[in-house]
Amino acid sequence: MSAGRILVVEDEEPLRMALCDALRAEGFDVLEAADGVAGRDAALREDPDLVLLDLMLPKLDGFGVLSALRADRLSAPVVILSARGEEWDRIQGFEVGADDYVVKPFSMRELLLRVRALLARESGGAPGIAGERRSARFGEVVVDFAGYSLTFRGERRGLSRKELDLLRFFLEHEGEVLERDRILDGVWGRDEFPSTRTVDMHVLKLRRKLEADPERPAHLQTVHGVGYKFLQKPDLGAR
Ligand code: CA
Repeated sequence: MSAGRILVVEDEEPLRMALCDALRAEGFDVLEAADGVAGRDAALREDPDLVLLDLMLPKLDGFGVLSALRADRLSAPVVILSARGEEWDRIQGFEVGADDYVVKPFSMRELLLRVRALLARESGGAPGIAGERRSARFGEVVVDFAGYSLTFRGERRGLSRKELDLLRFFLEHEGEVLERDRILDGVWGRDEFPSTRTVDMHVLKLRRKLEADPERPAHLQTVHGVGYKFLQKPDLGAR
């Protein structure tokens, strides 16, 4: 079972490789990027559970990456990897909000402890994560909760933690009309402040992964003016 998905944005290849190896050895799924633009794009596309972010990066520096992530309401914790003496004032007074930072050279052990602490804090605040369910099957979809993925018509597709939580929430409330605010409370929790647009965006992402025709969803149906309804078996004639 994956311990979570971590994005490593670091241009120094030996350090990036060492980080990725250490994280994988601890059971994390690891994504990596070697410059700021690739890091920003990977974060927004993949919705990782945590980001390790170098400051001095080609193309877009760490501050630019972090601003872009927060502007897009990515709520994953971000740990800054900073060289000693590197723009300390900006780091400490940083408005956009890193969650933690370590100073290079840091011990891998210390970094892993901080990563685990941040992930534990995150999962403690989000009610959707505690479910026991390992897998689910509906229509042509098989969901592997432990593997952060689903299989649609035999093709495996990765899921972010939030997509997985959202799908679990829908499964637990099958057939109910769910208002967007209720989905926000159930999946994102009250400690975070995403907008209802966040729900819509995640539903769109899920539809692309589990609907034969995302434009005419069979499972994740829109209830106009209210929210969504999930059906394991679409009642095509009823709507
Ligand atoms: Ca660097």
